[in-house]
Amino acid sequence: MTAPLEWCAQELADLERAGLRRAPVTLSGPQDPEVELQGRRVVLACSNNYLGLASDPRLRRAAAESSRGWGAGSGASRLVSGTTELHLGLERALAAHKGCEEALLFSSGYLANVGTIAALVGEGDAVFSDELNHASIIDGCRMSRARVVVFSHRLPHELERALLATPARRRLVVTDTVFSMDGDLAPLAELASVCGRNGAMLMVDEAHATGLLGASGAGAVEQAGLTGRVEVVMGTLSKALGSAGGFVAGRRELVELLRNRARTYIFDTAPNPAAVGAALEALKILCAEPWRRRRALESARRLASGIASLGFSVSPPAAAAFPVLVGPSDEAVALSARLLELGVLV
Ligand SMILES: *Cc1c(COP(=O)(O)O)cnc(C)c1O
Repeated sequence: MTAPLEWCAQELADLERAGLRRAPVTLSGPQDPEVELQGRRVVLACSNNYLGLASDPRLRRAAAESSRGWGAGSGASRLVSGTTELHLGLERALAAHKGCEEALLFSSGYLANVGTIAALVGEGDAVFSDELNHASIIDGCRMSRARVVVFSHRLPHELERALLATPARRRLVVTDTVFSMDGDLAPLAELASVCGRNGAMLMVDEAHATGLLGASGAGAVEQAGLTGRVEVVMGTLSKALGSAGGFVAGRRELVELLRNRARTYIFDTAPNPAAVGAALEALKILCAEPWRRRRALESARRLASGIASLGFSVSPPAAAAFPVLVGPSDEAVALSARLLELGVLV
């Protein structure tokens, strides 16, 4: 007889052989441009803290004051006794920022995607998902039990053919706006017309666009001039906004439905007061200091063109993250190790 967990060691060894086994690096401080790693200062080039807000003194103060005023924990789920005026204040601020009637907070962007997709479609429905969507969208599609149709990356024509070929009770099209791995932009105007023509709901994930794109930093929907014309706008507070949590913004009836149907909202303890207070402060800073997003976008473009001029394959960034394609995973892992020797964590 083998020990019940014997398979874990075998599976880890398989990952090791494939060069796919991973372990976290451990930092000794906050997400600053330079961080301390095992006693060395290194440049941090792989954080989603795009605007430098995660360690901003104003966000730290807001988090501390929210803890002092509202407690270290939020005690219960939102529908039981976990809702405070602080939560409602952030939901109002997010709705205004996104130009939507209402917004709903979740404890993370991951939970926002999983809960929202599974609340909007189910058995007898169909969900259409770009092949390079974030893992939380993929998991939401699976959990929904709707029929999942994956369409080729950024190909609205293929999506339209799939919609025409797939009748269903309800149909939801879901896409990242700025793709998390490839850093490119979804063709939002085309996707919105395809959905409009075919009576499908459109859901967009603005995780990497919130705080960076659009005249007021609301995201790719604002940049494309589509404010108010996308049914479901999801975003996260944990990247450019420097805090933690996720949200969905849209029409009043959508948000009210999610409040009653999204299991990751209903059965999850309300977002932590410190994170909520910090996110509210981040939204204020976003309005007051537009130079932050301009500088982040400029820095990303400058870095991408510099790396390209060294002969690497780099696609121009739509926002602040972009991939450098170096070849198979073991070469990428080796390059990352070499860069760390040179003082860059990426
Ligand atoms: C990071 C990310 C999420 C998850 O957000 P968290 O708040 O970190 O849970 C969802 N979608 C995309 C595209 C992301 O990049």
